[in-house]
Amino acid sequence: MSQLGTADRPLRVAVIGSGPSGFYATETLLTSLDLKVSVDIFDRLPAPYGLVRYGVAPDHPKIKNVVKIYEKTADNPAVSFLGNVHVGKDILIEEIRRFYDAVIFTCGAQSDRQLGIPGETLDGCHSATEFVAWYNGHPDYRQKTFDLSHETAAVIGQGNVAMDVSRILCKTVEELKGTDIAKHALEALAESKIKEVHVIGRRGPIQAAFTPVEIREFGDLADCDPVLDPAYLKIRPESEIELEDPTNLQAKKNFEVLKSFSARPPSQKQKRFIIHFHKSPQKLLGSGRLNKLVLEKNRLVGPPGKQQAEGTGVFEEMACGLVLYSIGYRGVPIPGIPFDTKKGTFSNIEGRVMEGGHAIPGLYCAGWIKRGPTGVIGTNKPDSVMTVQKILADLPQLKPCETPDSGAVKKLLKEREIRVVSFPDWKKIDAAEIEFGKTAGKPREKFVTVEDMLHVIH
Ligand code: NAP
Repeated sequence: MSQLGTADRPLRVAVIGSGPSGFYATETLLTSLDLKVSVDIFDRLPAPYGLVRYGVAPDHPKIKNVVKIYEKTADNPAVSFLGNVHVGKDILIEEIRRFYDAVIFTCGAQSDRQLGIPGETLDGCHSATEFVAWYNGHPDYRQKTFDLSHETAAVIGQGNVAMDVSRILCKTVEELKGTDIAKHALEALAESKIKEVHVIGRRGPIQAAFTPVEIREFGDLADCDPVLDPAYLKIRPESEIELEDPTNLQAKKNFEVLKSFSARPPSQKQKRFIIHFHKSPQKLLGSGRLNKLVLEKNRLVGPPGKQQAEGTGVFEEMACGLVLYSIGYRGVPIPGIPFDTKKGTFSNIEGRVMEGGHAIPGLYCAGWIKRGPTGVIGTNKPDSVMTVQKILADLPQLKPCETPDSGAVKKLLKEREIRVVSFPDWKKIDAAEIEFGKTAGKPREKFVTVEDMLHVIH
């Protein structure tokens, strides 16, 4: 039999998930020296690009320019896109393995960490994941509703996702209407009564997870002022040491921005973005629907670089009608793949999927499902490269699949009445969205149901 990865028998790889790490893994395979490869990229939605399409904030369009690079990868004749195929449901892992020598899971972190406090299930309390997917037009979240009729909203957590959801709540319709925000979200936000958005961090200003560019944006909003009590900027000696650490540029720049916010005089703007530190949510109150958030004040304990929040036993209440918790994403298990419930990732060592201390031959992962939800989009590139290096190292031992034929996969899916969306199909959907967007002055008007996307290609 011909060797895998040669012109006679190209290495057949299934990439599960068409977000950044899936495309970076594909690109790395295509550019690997002396390797002949055939890659099929699966996505459960008809639209590719995962986090770039459904996670990146609509008012951050430059970040989405990376899709131009992904498009080039998808147009390579050695690559096929199989959209609208739910791996693990429409086709099982053991089935997919019959057609591919290696499978790389790049399915991201589609769920979220829970607060684990009483009242979390009250109406009015949602994960930021849901809110982000809703305003970005993800088909699974089209029917979600968010009550924006109360004047106060609270966002728990201080990472960049918390900044994204806060900014969307703080911006005017004028600021959002020229973006690719979903139509239903723009309409709901136009009716929003929210005047105050409180963003709540359990630790201090030096430990905040947001990055300087993202926090700075709140100083330039059309009708919203950032508000910060200067008392928060009196930091303990351990935090001073963190601030003086020459490698901690983020903390230094954040601190400067926060100082400028705390010194701003009040203005006539209608909305306020209020930053809190050293507070943790303890419970949510309301009868059926949320109306109050109870917070415990914290102190920091521990040495520089390892400071943790510890409750002081002092509580305060905040009347609010909407809580969005944004405390980190989690991966979602796929039947047949060992899952690390603590980390919320697939069990893996450096991208090799592991079971009982052994790598499962032919199964790999990259991106957030491998390392957890950290870093920016570009961080996924070196991560995917590392996983592909493991495949290349394992190449001599990889067992060739039974049926090295994408046509056979498509036939199987057709028999199951799955309408596979190809990359040329997606381009039709893409062109239609861009065309629809023109009338509204938007870069695109996203189709927010799978049916509407499939309708275009029929
Ligand atoms: P993140 O950066 O890890 O932030 C999570 C936040 O939740 C932190 O403030 C953390 O506080 C807090 N937290 C965790 N558990 C908590 C609890 N039990 N109670 C209260 N607070 C809690 O996560 P993320 O915001 O979801 O972002 C994920 C990744 O995507 C990050 O790497 C982010 O930079 C990236 N991202 C980038 C952009 C951009 O570049 N514009 C936009 C969105 C996301 P502690 O620090 O105390 O743990």
